[in-house]
Amino acid sequence: MDMEKMVAYAKQHGFVFQGSELYGGLANTWDYGPLGALMKNRVKALWWQRFIQEDLRTVGLDSSILMNPAVWKASGHIDGFNDPLIDCKACRARHRADHLIESFDASLHADGLTPEALDAIIKEKKIPCSSCGKHDFTPVRQFNLMFKTAQGVLDAQSQAIYLRPETAQGIFVNVKNIQRALRLKVPFGIGQIGKSFRNEITPGNFIFRTREFEQMELEFFCKPGDEKRWFSHYKNASKQFLLDLGIKEDNIQLRDHDATELSHYSDATTDIDFRYPWGFDELWGIASRTDFDLKQHETHSGEDLRLRDPETNETYLPYVIEPSLGVERLFLALLFDAYKEETLEDGETRINLALHPAVAPYSVAVFPLIKKYHGEAAQALASTLSKSIELVYDDTGKIGKRYRRQDAIGTPFAITVDDETLSNQTVTLRERDTMAQSRVNVKDLPELLRQKTAF
Ligand code: ATP
Repeated sequence: MDMEKMVAYAKQHGFVFQGSELYGGLANTWDYGPLGALMKNRVKALWWQRFIQEDLRTVGLDSSILMNPAVWKASGHIDGFNDPLIDCKACRARHRADHLIESFDASLHADGLTPEALDAIIKEKKIPCSSCGKHDFTPVRQFNLMFKTAQGVLDAQSQAIYLRPETAQGIFVNVKNIQRALRLKVPFGIGQIGKSFRNEITPGNFIFRTREFEQMELEFFCKPGDEKRWFSHYKNASKQFLLDLGIKEDNIQLRDHDATELSHYSDATTDIDFRYPWGFDELWGIASRTDFDLKQHETHSGEDLRLRDPETNETYLPYVIEPSLGVERLFLALLFDAYKEETLEDGETRINLALHPAVAPYSVAVFPLIKKYHGEAAQALASTLSKSIELVYDDTGKIGKRYRRQDAIGTPFAITVDDETLSNQTVTLRERDTMAQSRVNVKDLPELLRQKTAF
């Protein structure tokens, strides 16, 4: 499955459309269609379930996208949230210098290097422009990724303001409020899901790198000295979440950042990479951020952000572990991981999007065997079941075709209403992956489906 085919598949089945397509599109923006919206909601709900609901140490938050610009000064984003930009003088193509190097030679690590160091590598290796093949570049310079806009009605009084480039700072500035309101004791975590914006130099690879995206971020606050333990805990828990979602172990790898790659605020970072069509690339970043953020906010706000240790009664700035995951990158990984084309025993082929039932857009499809005879009963059953489960109703075409359509969008179960249903209240339940069919009592369906689609 290559990317071009995935883009076409996602469009054809109503997962993802080009943004503003009617007007020729807006480059690198994507709209999530009915199936995409359902699946995205599921991805977010499962992350929330696993990392907030089921972990009694963590709580949730929904902070605003627009923040006082002082936040971004303190966090270092205004001065330092840059990517290295390089222009080809011959064809005017614009590149991210570190990506240019890494795509020339995957064994070179260029993330986090200074512009001078990047220039030196590009010269030494005579790296060519990936668009025109010439080696004629401007020097590398830093480009700030923050989206700037203006707040206020009158131009003269308007204030420069930024769209947040990460959700994490909304957590840091609220930590004291949350800790007090919920009487939390270290160690504890605060997580949230929300949109972030980065003016990426080279967005692309479909929904992998866009300028508007969603993050699922958790900041876990622990006692200084305990950070290694919690870092390791979150590496394992994050990997386990991906495996539990059904992602094949072969398709993920954990990659530790070496000293040249580590951000200035981090004493350890591990990326969980997924095997996208162009190779392993970052899906999830897990960073041990020390007390960098809280220290910065203390200095810039003048507020005491230390917390009291429940055991020793001492006060300190907690250390922070941050697992940060992109909704769209996980969405894309799930599609690639699940997509299969299979040849069946009768020689027919089918697409089987073998998603975990909990993440599939629809949990179940409901069909009348023959619309004329079974349509009414099937519709009644569908409207009862739809109160507790996401389903799709389909009464067009041959039953085999209807199964194929559902296999192709990952619907794990299909229920067919037939003559027997009318006489003894049973239906056929068909499973997507095995295509096995069994007879089930209508009254048992809600509980059975709940169990089969649980996470
Ligand atoms: P990259 O190196 O790919 O630019 P990053 O290291 O800057 O990513 P982080 O700042 O660690 O990314 O952000 C955490 C997570 O947010 C990433 O692991 C990724 O899943 C997601 N993410 C970051 N930037 C984008 C983007 N432009 N489009 C989609 N998802 C993104």
